[in-house]
Amino acid sequence: MITADFTFAATVEVIALLGLTPVLVDVDPVSFNIDVAAIRNAITPKTKAIVPVHLFGLAAPMDEIMELASEHNLFVIEDNAQGIGADYTGKNGVKIKTGAIGHVASTSFFPSKNLGCYGDGGAIFTNDDDLAHIIRGIVNHGMYVRYHHDVVGVNSRLDSIQATVLRAKLPHLDAYNTARRNAARKYTEAFSSFENIITPTGSCQLAANSICDNCDCHVFHQYTLRVVNIDRDALVKHLQENDIPCGVYYPIPLHSQKAYADVRYNEDNFKVTNQLVKEVISLPMHTELDDEQIDFITKTIIAFATK
Ligand SMILES: *Cc1c(COP(=O)(O)O)cnc(C)c1O
Repeated sequence: MITADFTFAATVEVIALLGLTPVLVDVDPVSFNIDVAAIRNAITPKTKAIVPVHLFGLAAPMDEIMELASEHNLFVIEDNAQGIGADYTGKNGVKIKTGAIGHVASTSFFPSKNLGCYGDGGAIFTNDDDLAHIIRGIVNHGMYVRYHHDVVGVNSRLDSIQATVLRAKLPHLDAYNTARRNAARKYTEAFSSFENIITPTGSCQLAANSICDNCDCHVFHQYTLRVVNIDRDALVKHLQENDIPCGVYYPIPLHSQKAYADVRYNEDNFKVTNQLVKEVISLPMHTELDDEQIDFITKTIIAFATK
């Protein structure tokens, strides 16, 4: 199964746990999402599936991925843990929600996600009724009829307390995402004249000549800058000293993690990820950021970057 080198470990963890072979590939430096050319190079007769991640809330290049998958008869599983509510504008100009494009998609309701519950939770999405039926059994100990275990299943039900929280929050998801997008726009405006601070793109269709520039498709699970010719780790420390929480997603490429390192991997194939892990910094991003906070955060970063 082919997936991105630059993502949260959970994406690759499940592949390994299923006894399948994860094949990590490099990402695009502008979108941070899986590189389609790298996927193409990694496909072999043994490849079964592609797992694009809508990283930080921006859709992966799904038109190209779906084309490649149908060319090679592969299954596409979207990791939509960071992208719930995001749109993807296809080459035909039609908007579709991430998680509704591949054959199946998963999302997470972990409290830090755009739609969080009060503990752990998640969901699987598919338009395929037969597959939905199979999945409903697997998540409930392999039962399709009570106490008849037709397949080996797991306990992966959403408990009712979490479901209650999600039921109350779901109607507000678009408003939450709009609030994140508005904060992102203000950050980007503040940094626009600083060349060593590269702001994230909002475009979900980089591969198709940016027909979707400023399309508002991004849901900014994270607002992630790249800082160039700036000591990123010193900037993190400086922000922490000023009580500004920030994060480095992700500091180590998956191919270099102890659990997933493999002799198959050649460093030359991970040039972008190896660079990004040194440059990225994610700023505070949630639905309650006010102008005063954004102003303080951006001024603190700009002062550090220009000193
Ligand atoms: C959070 C996250 C997951 C896993 O979610 P859990 O609810 O912890 O299982 C998977 N993939 C990505 C990209 C994530 O950010």
